[in-house]
Amino acid sequence: MHGGLAEAVRPALAELSPSLQELAHCDYVLGADPIFIGLHAYEDCGDGRTRRQTAHACWPHPFHLRKGEPPTVVLPSSREDIAAGSVSRAQITLEHEHFHIIDWAVFSRTGKWVADWVDLPVVSDYAARDKQERFACAGQRYIFPERTDWGQVLSRDTRRFFDAFSEQGLAVFG
Ligand SMILES: [Zn+2]
Repeated sequence: MHGGLAEAVRPALAELSPSLQELAHCDYVLGADPIFIGLHAYEDCGDGRTRRQTAHACWPHPFHLRKGEPPTVVLPSSREDIAAGSVSRAQITLEHEHFHIIDWAVFSRTGKWVADWVDLPVVSDYAARDKQERFACAGQRYIFPERTDWGQVLSRDTRRFFDAFSEQGLAVFG
């Protein structure tokens, strides 16, 4: 691995259609503790994990970032598989976070999260947490359908929605 975690960003973006890439536009904090570097102060993930060591997406109001900062994907290096240098694992995690940024972009422009617009399946236990995770997990599943070791396979309707969203971007909601 030459470029470290940064090497995972380009292939993760490349899996997204141009319309989704546009919505996923964000900054990255890779291999660093976001609280130590002053990005935000929300350590508790609400499930016993700390955001110092957990991949996450943060976006402006009403969430994480200081005024004026762009939405940001944070990928600390402390998760074992990522610390061990698995770019492909990092890429799958990044894709999940990209879908959170995409969801935020939809919310900031339409006032609704993607899951408010469309019925989305709960593809995993984690996806059951809230509507943001429902979308991010389904999006991740859409991009990596061949990964059968986690998450349910998407229905044809859900794949159709993601195909249309990939093609049309925000226009799919209007
Ligand atoms: Zn998530």
